[in-house]
Amino acid sequence: MNPLITQRLQLCTTLPTLPAVALRVVDLANSPDVHMRELCDTVARDPALTAKLLRVSNSAFYQSRRKPSNVREAVGLMGMRASVMIALSFTLTNAFRSQSGARLDMTLFWRRALLSALAARALGARRGLEYIDDLFTAALLQDVGVLALASMMPDEYAPVYASARDNDALLEAERAAFDCGHDEAGHWLLARWKLPDYLAQACLASHALQAEPEPGMHACIAASGPVADLVLYPGNAAVASRAAIAAARLGLDAAAISDALKQLANEAPAMEELFDITLFRPSDAAAIMAQAQELLVTHQLHEMREMEARSQRDALTGAHNRRHFEEVVRREFELSNRHGWPLTVALLDIDHFKSVNDTYGHQAGDMVLISMVRTIMKELRQEDLFARFGGEEFALVLPGTSIAAAGNLLLRLKRVVSGLMVRHEDQLVTVTASFGMASHMDGERRFDTHEAFIKAADEALYAAKHAGRDRVAEHDENGGFVFRQ
Ligand code: GH3
Ligand code: MG
Ligand code: MG
Repeated sequence: MNPLITQRLQLCTTLPTLPAVALRVVDLANSPDVHMRELCDTVARDPALTAKLLRVSNSAFYQSRRKPSNVREAVGLMGMRASVMIALSFTLTNAFRSQSGARLDMTLFWRRALLSALAARALGARRGLEYIDDLFTAALLQDVGVLALASMMPDEYAPVYASARDNDALLEAERAAFDCGHDEAGHWLLARWKLPDYLAQACLASHALQAEPEPGMHACIAASGPVADLVLYPGNAAVASRAAIAAARLGLDAAAISDALKQLANEAPAMEELFDITLFRPSDAAAIMAQAQELLVTHQLHEMREMEARSQRDALTGAHNRRHFEEVVRREFELSNRHGWPLTVALLDIDHFKSVNDTYGHQAGDMVLISMVRTIMKELRQEDLFARFGGEEFALVLPGTSIAAAGNLLLRLKRVVSGLMVRHEDQLVTVTASFGMASHMDGERRFDTHEAFIKAADEALYAAKHAGRDRVAEHDENGGFVFRQ
């Protein structure tokens, strides 16, 4: 972090100080094994905290037929770790909210913080993460750096905060203005308060700066803000796609986001009461759910397209597969007949590929196939199709291309293939390829069926092999072959 800012924060007298009970809770959060009595005693010293914990344990968060009536029962129901996290959330939030003088729109700040906390919990549950109450606290505190910066320099910070359109833009503006973002400032503050390191790290994780110590935790924090934004800015397409991307990083799909939003809507009333804030405007609820539904539909369409693309592609090389090639040839052959457009089909077969495998191994052979496909794809137009026919044999469909133009293209492809050098261990593997082609609707060239058309290209390929490989062959008018090298 910028040392000047660190120094200013250290000297800052307007940062909130933690009340005794909060310090005690932080201690408990750092202890590997907390005793039930210690926790209950600490909580009991603060009547407001006692009341809050009881209310949480009786709320939608912990649906249970048992209705805790004292702190001990509440902690028993929620578990020690969760209770400490909840106590931490209350005491720290209180410390900040009782602080006056910040010139920011604090309502929006706390709405986002609390919605993020709920979102992190809901996303974590869907991802099967273990400590969802830690996620709650970590997400709740992820933006406390904003409060630290605002306390330290209220006049300079307020306009930067007010002008940023979202949390990412705010971070960028802070870095530009102060060479320090709220992610770093929050991390600094939580570390100074001696919060457990993984909670302090969450501030950095919220903007994906941190490597993942516990799988999913940081990705979950990073997704919590964008999902909270779905509630804060219903109907905003950019917000929706950011949420979908963040959730995808966490390994969750749109259906899971939609589910998490439903959980969030269920739990929001309890949170509103506990933290005395309005999170969800009932009038927005319908729009939010509609958006979740839309995300789901878009996602399903996307899945279908992906599946379709996958089934048209060869798994090893990413070239189109033979089935797709055959469909395209059939369609293009018809179009060519209907409109009189020329159409060329070419087959390519790598020369002596068996000996590549025999000399360097099958894996090196695979690498050659992959890099050859990648290289050839770069040479083709959008409308050309390149497919793996099987093994080391490939096919090209070149719509609107005459035999002369196709001949030039194939010579160029022949050259790029023989120029390929694939590194395998300490050696460079090179190959050559042979090509056979046929054209339809070019001058007098005509075929009755697309099968006969492909067969002609195959005969030309065979002739190229027979004539010595590393060349391009086509039928001539007299039933013989013409070669190009
Ligand atoms: P020619 O010049 O006559 O085409 O000789 P060739 O060795 O290339 O031809 P042949 O058809 O006899 O052998 C093809 C070889 O391609 C045999 C097979 O092991 C190899 N092959 C087919 N598919 C794959 C693959 O996916 N990966 C690898 N590494 N090798 C493959
Ligand atoms: Mg071969
Ligand atoms: Mg072959």
